[in-house]
Amino acid sequence: MHILVTNDDGIGAPGIKALAESLHNLGDVTVVAPDRERSAAGHSLTLHAPLRVFELRPGWFAVDGTPTDCVNMGIHNLLRTRPDLVVSGINHGANMGDDITYSGTVAAAMEANLMGIPAMAVSLATHTPSDHFPDAARVALQVATELTRHGLPHDTFLNVNVPDLPFNQIKAPLVTRQGKRSFVGKIIDKVDPRGRKYFWIGSEEPRFQDEEGTDFHAVGNGHSSITPLHLDLTNYRSMAALEQWQVVSL
Ligand code: MN
Repeated sequence: MHILVTNDDGIGAPGIKALAESLHNLGDVTVVAPDRERSAAGHSLTLHAPLRVFELRPGWFAVDGTPTDCVNMGIHNLLRTRPDLVVSGINHGANMGDDITYSGTVAAAMEANLMGIPAMAVSLATHTPSDHFPDAARVALQVATELTRHGLPHDTFLNVNVPDLPFNQIKAPLVTRQGKRSFVGKIIDKVDPRGRKYFWIGSEEPRFQDEEGTDFHAVGNGHSSITPLHLDLTNYRSMAALEQWQVVSL
């Protein structure tokens, strides 16, 4: 069993260390991760610049690219054999609801899924410093073990979110659907030390629709959340309505 581990918080982040250590119980681990934080990089791929790889220690490779670059570098260059599993995380901060479209953590699992390799993303639901990465890593190991035992349904990868709690206080995982966030976006504008204006994309505390069955609801109630994802973004319910458009029936 060979596992490729990556993240979007960067190779020095505590979450990836805890994850790699925990997954050693399941198989050989190779880490290929961005050399710095690339949170909110989404599924971006570096096509117009070279990539450099730095082997920090045996089996730990830093890449000056995105999480998606790292999965590509790992699978098509650095690993001798195709991995049996790709695990991305443990992200510092939840990846739930609509936020997953920004997530580099989730995109790395997405990229592995595109290559036909079983994959999961794991996130710890807190934005403040936390000692609970090893606890979340134990949850990740449990889910990865089950994933290995059962295999994944066709065209599916997993998005796992873990509440910021000690392991023995985390409630049993729930299978959830992607929730809905209410965005309260804002742009902060200030003046730099040389008198030029700058802008910073900010946000207020995320608000979400606390509906039962969602990732938000599960994690908010102390459960780990496992959301099966796929890449087909088609809104099938809209197809009949669009077929009424004149441009479609011309
Ligand atoms: Mn991140």
